Amino acid sequence: MSLALPEFRPGTVWLVGAGPGDPGLLTLLAAHALAAADHVVHDALVDRRILALAAPGAELESMGKRGGADSPKQAAITARLIELAQAGKRVLRLKGGDPFVFGRGPEEAQALAAANIAFRIVPGITAGIGGLAYAGIPVTAKECNSTVTFVTGHGPDGDLPPDVDWDKLGAGSQVLVFYMAVRQLEKLAARLIKAGRPGTDPVALVSKAASPDQAVLISDLERIAADAAARPLPAPALIVVGPVVGLASVLDWWDGA
Ligand code: SAH
Repeated sequence: MSLALPEFRPGTVWLVGAGPGDPGLLTLLAAHALAAADHVVHDALVDRRILALAAPGAELESMGKRGGADSPKQAAITARLIELAQAGKRVLRLKGGDPFVFGRGPEEAQALAAANIAFRIVPGITAGIGGLAYAGIPVTAKECNSTVTFVTGHGPDGDLPPDVDWDKLGAGSQVLVFYMAVRQLEKLAARLIKAGRPGTDPVALVSKAASPDQAVLISDLERIAADAAARPLPAPALIVVGPVVGLASVLDWWDGA
């Protein structure tokens, strides 16, 4: 391949999205950054097969926020990135999906800007689009929806975010894609029904999308909480609500390989 890719300069930080799982979904810039980095600071969602693409001498460091009590504080992560860049390293900050979608990438970039460290943003395929495609669920389809909304289920205290107008959201967007929402699934489904969505609205829970362990649970708003309790699926998982879920019965194509 003779594509000229930008030089990864010492003392800079590249904030890179690794996509939802399948290593084949890395961008060319992400693969280039992995091959050139001196130090990779990755979050917990990044697939091992992707980390294996780092150069042999590169340092790999896990610093992921995972909602758990022992995950490193955001301030410690940004301090580490700054420290490594100031020491002259090529620092790759590798995050699952896209770094600017529900991933603290903006905070990290802001901290780098404030510290006068040169950085580059490399977008990745976000789980809420590419991961759903691996489950045969298009985020838009002409016969289904003209709108799609991406929502986090995780507010500042771990509960549903308080700054969402749930009535307007429920009524206003034909398809809703929720990140970090499995723990709040029962509350979420009830809230959407209260906002006027029918209990028969299709819902899918997509676990470990775009990985060999991908699993999909299809239900509806009325039954999803009970169905998910009866068949618990591992994190990370997305929840998608709306008519596009119905297409999975025909478009489900991923066999894990
Ligand atoms: N920046 C990431 C999202 C980080 S928030 C992105 O753009 O995809 C973490 C949430 O993303 C998880 O709670 C889950 O809802 C979702 N997620 C990330 N990877 C996933 C995967 N492979 N399968 C299902 N959900 C995933």
